[in-house]
Amino acid sequence: MKYNFPVIKTTHPKEKPDPDTLRFGQIFTDHMFMMEYSPEQGWHNGRIQPYAPLQLDPAAAVFHYAQEMFEGLKAYKSKDGRVLLFRPDMNARRTTNTNERMCIPHIDEELFVEAIKAVVGVDREWIPSKKGTSLYVRPFIIADEPFLGVRPADHFLFMIILSPVGPYYEGGLAPTKIYVENEFVRATPGGTGAAKIGGNYAASLKSQEKAHESGYEQVLWLDGVERKYVEEIGTSNAFFKIGDEVVTAPLTGTILPGITRDSVINLLKQWGMKVSERRMTIDEVFEAGKSGKLVEMFATGTAAVISPVGELSWKGEKVTINNGEIGELSQKLYDELYGLQIGEVEDKLGWTVEV
Ligand SMILES: *Cc1c(COP(=O)(O)O)cnc(C)c1O
Repeated sequence: MKYNFPVIKTTHPKEKPDPDTLRFGQIFTDHMFMMEYSPEQGWHNGRIQPYAPLQLDPAAAVFHYAQEMFEGLKAYKSKDGRVLLFRPDMNARRTTNTNERMCIPHIDEELFVEAIKAVVGVDREWIPSKKGTSLYVRPFIIADEPFLGVRPADHFLFMIILSPVGPYYEGGLAPTKIYVENEFVRATPGGTGAAKIGGNYAASLKSQEKAHESGYEQVLWLDGVERKYVEEIGTSNAFFKIGDEVVTAPLTGTILPGITRDSVINLLKQWGMKVSERRMTIDEVFEAGKSGKLVEMFATGTAAVISPVGELSWKGEKVTINNGEIGELSQKLYDELYGLQIGEVEDKLGWTVEV
């Protein structure tokens, strides 16, 4: 290992949660990774220390102008006791791109992955092993320089916190109801849609609330210019199976380049299926829905892996997909990806990395 991070162990280890009651992102482990950036020293003082609240100056730039970013991935425990990460190099690469967009100093991609391995290694006892559970890994960076002027900060904190999480769906895969947002937008060309940042989410809350009030779980975003082309769903990318073609929005800067999205495209191609990364109008989706050509729709993301969609609502019109049931392809993709992640499907592409 090129990097060696000192470990300060907690003197008060917490009790581990009951794996049957785990939800998402509510419980945190005993330790966290922390590293600082200053112009003089660059990224320095990487260490693992007890999980604890931070003390920050109220003028810290992140509070005022939201200069920050985050990532998300999971560590799984395999049946034979190995600890596996899924394509962490992709999270490192995406961090490089997000940082570039957000004027956050570059972090060496190898350091990024080594830091994840180190902190997950220290808290490996926290990784639940019950089916569908995992340890969610949340790397993030904030600008903590106390300064109220608007310019890129010159002091940052890079942290990694860990949270044991339960299966996304209690009883296995369950189709969701999606609200197509026709008023608010998430991203526009030239904006920050492809960067994984809190600001994109802050701007999306209003719409999510609206969807919830109407009885829908998530929002499908349309493009920010014409509100015509389908882009992505909440915290995940969107796929549509129309006839025998699987369609997803292209990476043109307004959608988040999901690692699950990339993995799904790879698998579909391996299986000889027709996959298109192309712009598609919401009209085309609804027409396909009405004529029965929209055979499946699903969302992809780290949290749920594959999340089938059972209903879409747009401007008061509704379309039911696959009778509101899990599609064959959604199930097959879920089984394959989840199987790879927990080390039960043979990893021919070298996607899993052992801690
Ligand atoms: C993180 C995220 C995704 C999914 O990315 P994965 O790498 O597959 O987890 C999709 N859309 C948005 C807006 C996201 O923040």
